[in-house]
Amino acid sequence: MAKSSLIPGFYRLSLEERLQHVKEFANLTDEEAGQLKKAGSLPLDMADRMIENVIGTIPMPFGIGVNFLINNRDFLIPMAIEEPSVVAAASYAAKMVRDGGGFFTSSTQPIMVGQIQVVGVKDPYAGKMRVIQSKDEILKKANDQDPVLLSAGGGAKDLDAKIINTTQGSMLIVELQVDCRDAMGANAVNTMAEAVAPMIERTTGGRVYLRIISNLATRRLARAWCIVPKKSVGGEEVVDGIVNAYAFAAADPYRAATHNKGILNGIVAVILATCNDHRAIEAGAHAYAVKNGHYASLSTWEKNENGDLVGSLELPMAVGLIGGAVRTHPIAKIAVKILGVKTANEFGEVLAAAGLAQNLGALRALSHEGIQRGHMNLHARNIAVTAGATGEVIDLVAAKMVEERKVRVDRAKELIEQYEATGKI
Ligand code: NAD
Repeated sequence: MAKSSLIPGFYRLSLEERLQHVKEFANLTDEEAGQLKKAGSLPLDMADRMIENVIGTIPMPFGIGVNFLINNRDFLIPMAIEEPSVVAAASYAAKMVRDGGGFFTSSTQPIMVGQIQVVGVKDPYAGKMRVIQSKDEILKKANDQDPVLLSAGGGAKDLDAKIINTTQGSMLIVELQVDCRDAMGANAVNTMAEAVAPMIERTTGGRVYLRIISNLATRRLARAWCIVPKKSVGGEEVVDGIVNAYAFAAADPYRAATHNKGILNGIVAVILATCNDHRAIEAGAHAYAVKNGHYASLSTWEKNENGDLVGSLELPMAVGLIGGAVRTHPIAKIAVKILGVKTANEFGEVLAAAGLAQNLGALRALSHEGIQRGHMNLHARNIAVTAGATGEVIDLVAAKMVEERKVRVDRAKELIEQYEATGKI
């Protein structure tokens, strides 16, 4: 029988009980479950091989978004993030969406673009024609670089060229379109772009400078959409509030930046849990948000004829299940196993659903009760720890500050002193 991700009261379980649930859901081994509990699960020698000048590692909370139903299949969503409320909001929103049948998703082919900058071409328009004429030869050279990608069904599939006007005069930009299959693709594409550069110099008579992937991955999009019954979201008034909140973000870049940050809270948490490149995702998302000429919301929220809420999200999704650190970092490997995704496209679609859920959670809170109520409990605990509280005193101090609506370090210190003097708060 298929296992359900609908786990009521998951947040009330002990850490050990939650881990048991996830272990059973994802068939984790004892060793994998043990790895998740160890604060230092990235061996130092591995960290030392990943980047330069390593002196240690920084652990981060690893939580699970529950209740996700995506294309009629249950998912538990691993999320690594330092910000309180994100995992709770995603799980809560996924529950509301589940009432409407869950998320539905789609994606384009995983095509990334490699840009080759050619300067000093005497006849740039004719140069562009010559490049396009030599397409087969250039693509063959590109594909010779990566027989493994080719055998996986990917590779350089097409190319285009454009002339841009710059402060340094006109430039010819050749764009290789590479199907990256299950890789994010930056290394693969950059290698191809570098390999074909001499050929392009010969063809155009110009000089090639940059040869690099573009993070504005408009040919590699992931989409998610959902219907949230008005009853589940809190009534038609809340639906109207969310639609108005979306309209604000669609019209005003200052609001849109925060709206999109909320979407990325959900996506980047999963990206971090799986050791993918969050800068690539963020760069692509923000650049894509300008596609209509001004920076705007990446998602849309509408009310349908029944008065229910309908949300959709589309964004570039350059993620991989192969390459980078996803296959080497021990926790990233476990995160992918928990997700149960088999292709980068499927992974990207789950990420789009996580982003849309996060967006819904934030918009509902903002347009209904305000964001602070949900944030406050965990925030208060962080403040209590900052003020020096330990053990059970953390929760006592936090609860008192929330009750008083005075969540401040100075108040936390007073309460800790009071506890030390009297044994109570
Ligand atoms: P990679 O080169 O480590 O792995 C990709 C390779 O895996 C492919 O080229 C292919 O040879 C092989 N492969 C095997 N099976 C495959 C399959 N089923 N599908 C696809 N490929 C398969 O990694 P990458 O994805 O090319 O590069 C990702 C890394 O590049 C990330 O760490 C990223 O941070 C980094 N990076 C990013 C940028 C940027 O975003 N601007 C720039 C430079 C580097």
